[in-house]
Amino acid sequence: MTRIKIDGVDKAYRQMNGTNLRVLNNVDFETEENDFLCILGPSGCGKSTLLNIIAQLEEPSSGSVSIGSEASPTDVCFVFQEPRLLDWRTVRENIEFALDGKDIPKDEWDERIETYLELVGLDDFANEYPRSLSGGMQQRVSIARAMAVEPDVILMDEPFSSVDEITARNLRSDLVDIWKEQKRTIVFVTHDAIEATFLANRVLVMSHRPSNVLVHEKIDIDRP
Ligand code: ADP
Ligand code: ADP
Repeated sequence: MTRIKIDGVDKAYRQMNGTNLRVLNNVDFETEENDFLCILGPSGCGKSTLLNIIAQLEEPSSGSVSIGSEASPTDVCFVFQEPRLLDWRTVRENIEFALDGKDIPKDEWDERIETYLELVGLDDFANEYPRSLSGGMQQRVSIARAMAVEPDVILMDEPFSSVDEITARNLRSDLVDIWKEQKRTIVFVTHDAIEATFLANRVLVMSHRPSNVLVHEKIDIDRP
């Protein structure tokens, strides 16, 4: 039952030379319940800025964003482009820290940790520290950590860019399966149109314009 609503969002960054860089211009859209939305566009067009505003990690210059309803608070997890694990905690402890933060009952922890580490192919690495894993493996842990919370909304910013292509392919399929099974809202930033069309049921296309105006379209993809 989670909708994301973006209402007339503008974003401008103050640049070194004192001028403003307009990145988002009057962005207006609303997701349907349980959309898998891909935000697609070329590098530098403002995808991360828009995702960060949805995550409330950044303030829009004007306009507003809402997720879910005030009546029922919405759990949101963010998967960044880089892993952002806690280096002094093991893989298991990293996931436990997230579960604890979201008040997931302790008797569910083991099963969730097992399920989602297996999903990303790292069930044998629960007791390792992040620095003993490759960059791609660390990123898979950060994906498992977000999944284990089973949040209403998962926001992902090019999460597979450091993951090798074969693993990424498997993870994309798993992500679609999880989305279908568990009915959650996923917002996924990518510059890769093939990735977007594989994953999403709705794609928001952003493009550069001379005036930095954002063009956005919704394309509903019919998927069985
Ligand atoms: P994308 O995710 O599509 O690659 P971004 O949202 O990261 O694009 O960036 C959009 C534009 O805003 C880029 O030109 C970038 O340099 C600029 N930008 C992003 N964050 C900041 C910031 N904190 N300060 C100034 N400019 C920024
Ligand atoms: P990166 O591309 O960042 O180096 P990868 O995820 O491709 O990271 O992993 C690099 C190496 O780590 C693999 O070639 C493999 O030796 C080892 N590795 C990755 N996943 C596993 C796994 N599930 N079990 C055992 N070794 C693994």
